[in-house]
Amino acid sequence: MSNMKSYQERDKKHIWHPCSQMKDYETFPPIVIKQGKGVFLEDMDGKKYLDAISSWWVNLFGHSNQRINDALYKQANKLEHVIFANFTHEAAIELAEGIINVSPKGLNKVFFGDNGSSAVEIALKLSFQYHQQMGKNRKTKFVALTDAYHGETIGALSVGGVDLYSNIYKPLLMEVIRPTAPDCFRCPYGKERKNCDAQCFEAMEKVVLKQHNEITAIIIEPMVQAAAGMKIYSANYLKKLRKLCDAYDINLIADEIAVGFGRTGEMFACNHANISPDIMCVSKGLTAGYLPLSLAIMTDKIYNAFYDDYPTMKAFLHSHSYSGNPLGCAVALETLKIFEDEQIINQNKIKSKIIKEKAEERILDLPNVGEFRQLGMIAAIELVKDKTTKEGFDWQKRVGYQIYKIAVEKGVILRPLGNVIYFMPPYVINEKEIKFMFQIARESITMYFDR
Ligand SMILES: *Cc1c(COP(=O)(O)O)cnc(C)c1O
Repeated sequence: MSNMKSYQERDKKHIWHPCSQMKDYETFPPIVIKQGKGVFLEDMDGKKYLDAISSWWVNLFGHSNQRINDALYKQANKLEHVIFANFTHEAAIELAEGIINVSPKGLNKVFFGDNGSSAVEIALKLSFQYHQQMGKNRKTKFVALTDAYHGETIGALSVGGVDLYSNIYKPLLMEVIRPTAPDCFRCPYGKERKNCDAQCFEAMEKVVLKQHNEITAIIIEPMVQAAAGMKIYSANYLKKLRKLCDAYDINLIADEIAVGFGRTGEMFACNHANISPDIMCVSKGLTAGYLPLSLAIMTDKIYNAFYDDYPTMKAFLHSHSYSGNPLGCAVALETLKIFEDEQIINQNKIKSKIIKEKAEERILDLPNVGEFRQLGMIAAIELVKDKTTKEGFDWQKRVGYQIYKIAVEKGVILRPLGNVIYFMPPYVINEKEIKFMFQIARESITMYFDR
């Protein structure tokens, strides 16, 4: 038995893996990773894999990054954790200052959570309580788009619109107003990305005009609906949304958990539209893929609605045991320093051009590629049965999953979403590795359709 096999046997005895049908593991057992360096992960048998998905969209500067390792070690030797109610510490203070400094204008206060879903819960609760305390008691509903993804806890799942994850729980979830999301690949208005004025915004406009008295917030993934299959849409949509929210006293919650920290080419995706949300949720890249930490960052206007004498009962009595965890804060702070010292946003502009070039060379001519789309460091291929009709594959065929298995065998971790194969590599990826990533994607797609 190889070293890896014995670990797989032990894993199977007690471990239930996320987002998995465990029966699949009978034929495709989990790969046991021993170590990582840069864009590569290495398994117990010494085989290397290029991590093209940044280990579920979290890693920014490669695995086992020396600067982050050092920052973590230093903090661990100083202070690992302290209660964050009525106590504070240097790493949290510096992180708050640093994040406000790079956030869209107007965001000025930070509330700490410990994962993306909890940041979404915080944002939803904040908005609801804000309007209650502002005397707008009827504003109790949330608006979120079809195909939206905001996490897995009950509130976050409620605003999410991916049926695959939420269908069975529907009886438990809160009622959400759900206009149809932009769909630029199959635009119902017959527009192309270059001549789009976000006509599809009318679906949003319609529900808001009708129900604005009941709406407390609109939550959105700016620029890219990631879990929906890296569906990229126009910045015009966000501009219109900001105006609409202003006109009807609705909080705009930007879920930047996947797209923040440079993924889309700007520090935050809202920057593409030059807008500021009322509340912004960040996590994932916040700690460069090291530790669970999240933030809900908001305007003074929101914060001030909670600021009063204790007996008014306006405080936000939300907490997590690990709120403001110093280790997470120190790592996040070092992440911000790396952005600045290494001019990451500028460097990524060059890298995203290389990604475009290499993808077009190796992907566009394939018969089942319906679209190649990209925004900054996020790229995706949508596979179709027929390029002219854009007809997709039946989900039960699990086309993406089959291609994923082939690619892993060849040393690249792709992990597709339905019929969409996407690329969200750590920013330290170099030109040679980019070529390799798309070459293996090409070979895997070809191999699947040829057999
Ligand atoms: C991943 C993600 C979340 C949930 O974050 P978790 O840390 O997995 O709870 C929420 N929103 C978006 C857009 C995400 O991509």
